[in-house]
Amino acid sequence: MEIIRCPLQMQQWSLAERRQGRTIAFVPTMGYLHEGHLSLLRAGRQRADRLVLSIFVNPTQFGAGEDFDSYPRDLDRDSTLAQPTGVDVIFSPSAPQMYPPGFATQVHLSGLTEGLCGASRAGHFDGVTTVVSKLFGIVQPQLALFGQKDFQQLAVIRQMTSDLNLPIEIVGMPIVRESDGLAMSSRNSYLTAELRQQGLSLSDALRQASAASRQGQRDAAVLLDLVHRRIGQEPAARIDYCEICQAQTLQPVSQVDAQSVLLLAVYFGTTRLIDNHLLLQPFPA
Ligand code: AMP
Repeated sequence: MEIIRCPLQMQQWSLAERRQGRTIAFVPTMGYLHEGHLSLLRAGRQRADRLVLSIFVNPTQFGAGEDFDSYPRDLDRDSTLAQPTGVDVIFSPSAPQMYPPGFATQVHLSGLTEGLCGASRAGHFDGVTTVVSKLFGIVQPQLALFGQKDFQQLAVIRQMTSDLNLPIEIVGMPIVRESDGLAMSSRNSYLTAELRQQGLSLSDALRQASAASRQGQRDAAVLLDLVHRRIGQEPAARIDYCEICQAQTLQPVSQVDAQSVLLLAVYFGTTRLIDNHLLLQPFPA
């Protein structure tokens, strides 16, 4: 496994592999790897000849006052975790390598980016679409894997890839959870034991809403009320958003069907957790 820091060197590696007829799968991350990331890597390993993991805490997708400075970073730990999955290259550039003086381009996607995380994190998705476009240009993958944990991000990347005619297959992968239901996240490392316990209310609320909808409750307002009441039991919880949306358009719905996704973002102290579930699908045990 090789670690490459220079974008040009990464691109040359990928172009050489492609000239040999080999396919490249790509998993972009911000590092501090957990089983969610590793599940994407294992799936990528199965689907292509070469596997590239990027680790880059992208400054442009963090807003003022967000956790860019405190975001956990540990490349040695990440290398140790990534190696057994069969990663060929970890691409880990610095911010000045990605955004040299004079950098002036932004990729902006309208519509899908406007609600949910886009409403509470101004500029976040411009940072995401711009960096993912750059990473696609550098890594030159035929296949890129993203987690459904970031449901809106996956929808945005799919649309961007289609709108820009990028010859890259976007693969969405299921949310990996801790055994007690908490969706895995690098940000879980911020939580005290007490806040982590309260954070279980997200998966618990999703589980309850999913069960109620599968038992026939299709009124979105009733299901949202159930979620508010469950999360409201936690003293540190402050709901950022709680919506039931159509999975492709991300527009709110009033009646639930097989395409309805319940999306949550909740602060516990200063830590913001997100989670989601396609309501009529059984919630994982
Ligand atoms: P991040 O490092 O948080 O930017 O995430 C990198 C990729 O891993 C994104 O495609 C995420 O959706 C995905 N990911 C993060 N957490 C999980 C999880 N618990 N299960 C599955 N995929 C995840």
